[in-house]
Amino acid sequence: MTLQTTNQANTDQVLLGQSLSQLTDWVEKHGQPAYRGKQLYQWLYQKEARSLLDISVFPKKWREEMADYPLGRSTIHHRSIAPDKTRKYLLSLADGLIIEAVGIPTAKRLTVCVSTQVGCPMDCDFCATGKGGFTRNLKAYEIVDQVLTVQEDFEQRVSNVVFMGMGEPLANIDEVIAAVKSLNQDVGIGARSLTVSTVGIPGKIQQLAQHRLQIVLAVSLHASNQALREQLIPSAKKYTLDNLLDECRDYVQVTGRRVTFEYILLAGINDLPENAHELAQCLKGFQTHVNLIPYNPISEADYQRPNNHRIREFTKILELANIAVSVRYSRGLEANAACGQLRASKV
Ligand code: SAH
Repeated sequence: MTLQTTNQANTDQVLLGQSLSQLTDWVEKHGQPAYRGKQLYQWLYQKEARSLLDISVFPKKWREEMADYPLGRSTIHHRSIAPDKTRKYLLSLADGLIIEAVGIPTAKRLTVCVSTQVGCPMDCDFCATGKGGFTRNLKAYEIVDQVLTVQEDFEQRVSNVVFMGMGEPLANIDEVIAAVKSLNQDVGIGARSLTVSTVGIPGKIQQLAQHRLQIVLAVSLHASNQALREQLIPSAKKYTLDNLLDECRDYVQVTGRRVTFEYILLAGINDLPENAHELAQCLKGFQTHVNLIPYNPISEADYQRPNNHRIREFTKILELANIAVSVRYSRGLEANAACGQLRASKV
């Protein structure tokens, strides 16, 4: 491996995202004893080093020689804090592109919502991210970096990660799986505290199942029948609700893990009592949990959030059908950091 002399990273060679044994090989190739691999690993993943210069246990001369070698860290371009203490970050990547990450603190936890792509190709009608189009997939280390950045900024260990930021995780499945493994093994976050959310892409849930990860899989259903789903989610035209649910059933069988379903509530569109009954019918026989997400307004769409009465009524119908249900009032609304509002801009 050749020495990098600028921060214009050859992104395959950055240090973040590499395992302990890969980092050990790397230090040895650069003339250092193997134990420095362990030190590098700890400083990268536990001490959030941003440059080899930061790693004070390394010999000064070597640190200075290697100072420009890219670690793979982003820089914070902008940060806004909502009244509920949710922090939204615009992060600048090595190639100058901007992504969003969100830090969501609660009494005992710190959850990070990570992006998996710059933009999104899915173009769901109610989501701001897709409105800006799709630019590129993120590398695994660019996903891990978001978690480290939020951890460093809050000065608190991250307990949970949700892959619910910009992008469709399963459209970038290899890098997402690599990021899941690194967050689990290198950063030390329990697999059950990692949630990957997908709108569904044919064959990809099955592919994910083969890895038998102990993560939570959340599937964005959003509609109780095929016609309604197609109206809201263009990609649903090529992937029927029946096929999606079949793939979810197989996922449960292969992994032994439950699937959670997300259902956005759009007033007058999919929040009627008949939709709730139809949804309950769709999910019959599933050991599942439904997360209802009242719509968060975006400027490009004129949907409305249902009133509380409607939300309660919808919830009740699912409960009576013995479906576990919760309502997710997204955090960070005032900072435009809530579900569906991420678009890599300050407002
Ligand atoms: N592409 C992934 C992750 C998207 S964001 C997926 O589709 O699952 C996480 C959740 O926020 C998804 O369920 C998404 O549909 C939902 N969402 C998108 N726009 C929203 C909005 N304006 N209000 C509320 N939820 C929204």
